[in-house]
Amino acid sequence: MPYDVFEADPARVGGTIESAQYGPYLLDVGPNSLQLSPELAQLIEDAGLTDAVVDTAAVSVHRYVLRGGRLRQLPSSPPALLTSGYFSLKTKVRLLLELLRRPGPPVPPDVTAADFFAERFGPEVVRWALDPFVAGVWAADPAKLLLREALPRVAALADAHGSVVRGLMKSARQSAAADGGTTARRRIVSFREGAGQLPRALAAALRHLHQGTAITSVRSAPDGFRLTRADGRPTPHPTYSRLVLALPTHAAAPLLRGAFPAFAEALAVVRHPPMAAVYLAYPRAAVAHPLDGFGALYPRAEGRRAAGTIWSSSLYPARCPPTEVLLTTFVGGDQAPTAADLPDDELTAAIDAELRALYGISAVPTFRHVARWARAIPQLDAHIRPVRAALPALEAAGVFAVANWAAGVGVPDVVVRARKVAERLIADAAATT
Ligand SMILES: Cc1cc2nc3c(=O)[nH]c(=O)nc-3n(C[C@H](O)[C@H](O)[C@H](O)COP(=O)(O)OP(=O)(O)OC[C@H]3O[C@@H](n4cnc5c(N)ncnc54)[C@H](O)[C@@H]3O)c2cc1C
Repeated sequence: MPYDVFEADPARVGGTIESAQYGPYLLDVGPNSLQLSPELAQLIEDAGLTDAVVDTAAVSVHRYVLRGGRLRQLPSSPPALLTSGYFSLKTKVRLLLELLRRPGPPVPPDVTAADFFAERFGPEVVRWALDPFVAGVWAADPAKLLLREALPRVAALADAHGSVVRGLMKSARQSAAADGGTTARRRIVSFREGAGQLPRALAAALRHLHQGTAITSVRSAPDGFRLTRADGRPTPHPTYSRLVLALPTHAAAPLLRGAFPAFAEALAVVRHPPMAAVYLAYPRAAVAHPLDGFGALYPRAEGRRAAGTIWSSSLYPARCPPTEVLLTTFVGGDQAPTAADLPDDELTAAIDAELRALYGISAVPTFRHVARWARAIPQLDAHIRPVRAALPALEAAGVFAVANWAAGVGVPDVVVRARKVAERLIADAAATT
């Protein structure tokens, strides 16, 4: 099937997925951990990268949350939640009472995650579990995040079972029975050269990749779509019968203004709050905390500048010298959109001070680096609904969106959707020849 891939960036592929080596320090400047879904595993195999996969260390099953100024390990299952001291007795009773819920009317499409969880489980769950979780995954504010757009499985469980907790337990039992009781957590992986190794390998296999070629407009023509390149040169084919959008809303909106004005307008108002990541390394011996986990989230109620820290060298020990630890701290997102508004050196100093207090660090950093995203992650709030609602009509017109605003923000979500679209395009092409 003839195709052309146009990538605006002249120097690299992968968009948000980027890894960079600074001497002995390997940084993921974007996604750092990928859930190994079957579709992602297939893509990795197709890219010839199976041998380059690096699993997160076993210790990464532990997750920490800051509460009352203390890092506390999060209970990892509903029963553990009830026996641990993480939640008050009142909240534990609410969790148990939720089990008694019977199915009612479907969860309305405009219900926010905060409203849904507050009504079922109370404010403690929202403040100390939902807030940090939603900041960690979507850089979002649960008071704006729509449950059906961001957590469709939770909404579906509520619709089907009434109780989300009972639905979760039932589906866990069913999947355990389906695979003979061997259900394990999905592997979380990266690559020897960091997450950026995946798009580099995929790009190397593409025969029709036009690197450094931004598309500036799309016009409808009788036999498909005519694309305009930023450099004014003609595209290899004068028209394309199908168009796949794998670019952010703010880049897609201006392209589509002529051919799909209403859709372009809906795309243009999708919000992407800014974020920064501060990378700091310290001598291992100078860090009191054992860093025995994936990392820690800092709920906004704790009043820190940072939203959370990934303990990068606990996940992937080869990311820094063996006598040091490497910490990646995220700042910003929709709960704190101005938190990273400081020059790099001031931001680094502020995060260094927070980490010193939290982890009992008694040495200066051996390495520091700041990365910034002016528009980090598309927010799945009220603005995303018209965009997603328009996708079927767009597909009927030959335009397919596979980017995170259509697919879900995790790399595996994007891979699942891209595979579905690819299969559909191949089937359509076979049907017309
Ligand atoms: C800080 C951060 C941490 C994250 N961590 C994780 C994680 O740990 N795990 C996880 O699964 N996900 C994570 N994510 C989410 C995930 O990385 C993204 O949702 C996903 O990579 C986005 O992919 P995409 O295909 O939608 O587009 P993008 O990555 O935005 O790529 C779009 C591409 O389009 C190109 N482009 C733009 N305009 C044009 C144009 N006019 N013409 C041609 N090309 C153009 C760009 O150059 C770019 O290469 C993280 C995201 C961020 C920001």
